[in-house]
Amino acid sequence: MNRQRQLIIFIGPPGCGKGSLSQVCVQKLGWVQLSTGYLCRKHIAQKTEIGKQIDFSIKSGNLVTDELIVAMVEQWLGENVRDQGGVILDGFPRTIAQAESLQSLVQEKLQDCYVRVIQLGASDEVIMQRLLGRFVCENKDCQAVYSSHASSALTPQKSTICDICSSKLIRRDDDEEATIRKRLSTYYGYEQSLVDFYQRHGQEVVKINVEKQLDKVFEDFTKIIAERK
Ligand code: AMP
Repeated sequence: MNRQRQLIIFIGPPGCGKGSLSQVCVQKLGWVQLSTGYLCRKHIAQKTEIGKQIDFSIKSGNLVTDELIVAMVEQWLGENVRDQGGVILDGFPRTIAQAESLQSLVQEKLQDCYVRVIQLGASDEVIMQRLLGRFVCENKDCQAVYSSHASSALTPQKSTICDICSSKLIRRDDDEEATIRKRLSTYYGYEQSLVDFYQRHGQEVVKINVEKQLDKVFEDFTKIIAERK
């Protein structure tokens, strides 16, 4: 089979820039981005039944159950995956059960995709600094991400207003120091087992150091996706 489009799986700690890099791919490459965190926050904002069930897990930095996440992913793939263009999975899979479900979903719905697994790495200090300076658009259909650090490429034009939809910028409930530490420890609890899972399945895991400006990270990313083995 001619596998034209790429399906990118990002493995990386919270705050490493998975979402921002995905957004650049959406804007510059016309790809689609599935962010399970975004879908979860939307459910919470819309006060759906799912939203009520997952609110506490998210605020405390724990993972949402595999069943709910896989159901959200399945629905999203059904509604959003077109015939062309790459697909980026931002924040999924996070457990082996999710990775196994994804293998089946790829066989059923994404047979034409060439799967790449990319591991994004940054130190805890850099992550902490980025997340403590992170602001997001309060409009749950937008959720654009900004930084209060002057050196970042993500500073908004007006400090409290979203450049895209003019809604207010707020801090995420889970971007508070104790919750960030919990999210990091949750991440380190599954990171290696996911990497091992893909390597066991013969899937190369390519690393990118993301302790640099977003445009440089995107440059590294484009080199990787240009290499088709
Ligand atoms: P993120 O926006 O990717 O940082 O995700 C925010 C929160 O959503 C996480 O801390 C989890 O509580 C939840 N979440 C997002 N994706 C997943 C997933 N694949 N599995 C379980 N929980 C998830």
